[in-house]
Amino acid sequence: MDITRVYEILRETYYRRYYDVYPKLVPADSESVVKIVPLYDHCKFDEDAEYEVKITSMDSCHSQKGEERGYTTVLKPSNGILEVRHCFEGEQEHVLLISVRSNGEEKEIGAFSIYSLKDDLYQRRPYKGELHIHSNLSDGKESPEYVAAACRRIGFDFMAVTDHKAYQPSIRAKETYKDVDIDLKIFPGEEIHLPGVEVHIVNFGANYSISQYVEENPDKYMAEVEAVANNIDDLPAGVDRYEYAACVWCFKKIREGGGLGIFCHPYWVYERRYNVSPVFTDYMLEKHPFDAYELLGIGGIQVDSNMLQVAHYNEQRAKGNQIAIVGCSDAHGCERDVSFGWVYTMVFSKGLEVEDIKEAIKNYYSVAVEKVPGCPVRVFGPWRLVKYALFLLREFFPKHDGLCYEEGNLMLKYIRGEDDAAQRLKMAKGQTARLMNHYWSK
Ligand SMILES: [Zn+2]
Ligand SMILES: [Zn+2]
Repeated sequence: MDITRVYEILRETYYRRYYDVYPKLVPADSESVVKIVPLYDHCKFDEDAEYEVKITSMDSCHSQKGEERGYTTVLKPSNGILEVRHCFEGEQEHVLLISVRSNGEEKEIGAFSIYSLKDDLYQRRPYKGELHIHSNLSDGKESPEYVAAACRRIGFDFMAVTDHKAYQPSIRAKETYKDVDIDLKIFPGEEIHLPGVEVHIVNFGANYSISQYVEENPDKYMAEVEAVANNIDDLPAGVDRYEYAACVWCFKKIREGGGLGIFCHPYWVYERRYNVSPVFTDYMLEKHPFDAYELLGIGGIQVDSNMLQVAHYNEQRAKGNQIAIVGCSDAHGCERDVSFGWVYTMVFSKGLEVEDIKEAIKNYYSVAVEKVPGCPVRVFGPWRLVKYALFLLREFFPKHDGLCYEEGNLMLKYIRGEDDAAQRLKMAKGQTARLMNHYWSK
């Protein structure tokens, strides 16, 4: 049996197929009403029966007195629905175990999970996205618009094509869909390779191309980098002054254009060595001139590289340095490259505009997610967000991703020129946002 299926059984998610339970996300420490609605004839509630609801909070402490860990209440359905009124304490997952006594026997109806959130996180919504991916306009396999559709098909809410030294492909991805209603947010972007600099930098969302600026103004670029270099204090041995100054200049330039600058895959193994020396990476993580660190990259193909990126991040955090993170597939093909969809970023943001995504990532409201086919999902980042993301990946995103799958396929139909694709996309418009509104309590 597939390991993900085993995991599904362990976490009892199969019950969720028979009942709609909402809201799933509620504010912590205030009263909420959770509705349990049977979806099919075989799981209808008996109007005359009494149902026992036992609420267990995941973070609850062990009681040495042998008291029950949890809260139990008995309810009768009304109009075929069970309504559980409860004050969910703290920021954590709660499991509602529902059972009924019939013919003298206790029968389990289901175990349903909901999550209570502190205000800052409750005001934000989770979105999945790809911030670093290639099209055939550099060394990828498919057109930019194909890459965008493929990203929607696997459940992403936002993306940018970030071709090597090329900004135009990302614009083309967006332009292709300008006459059609889609919910995927497509942003501009590029992967920047500065002259004589080995560090790869992604420009996500800036309103101009840094690669083009450097190419068109080589002298101005050199003078600007030199000015930065002159203002840098002593550097550790092994950190090249020009290279570091060029990175600082580049991240600043990205910010000036309204974008997010990503320090990419330092432990990517290329030509039998790491892309960036550990001493340089260490200095970068300490000084944090970038907006986000690519904690997971190269889509899990180079497992060692990702582990080293994570280990280096953990060491810096142990020293008290906060580091903003993203995870990116860096895929060079959506169908043939093994990494597509294996790594991505989940942001907790106030909206889906580039400003919202930037704000979330820069304020450490993001996690890097790894989903290698056939393996359970793994989440990296701050503990609080990892805990929440694991809940969402089990309880919210499967439905969200199902809707995205339809839309992604319609986007592919649209670029193939199929007649009804635009009309069907229009009908699908807003469905992921509606799903979110359904699950988040008002
Ligand atoms: Zn790269
Ligand atoms: Zn790349």
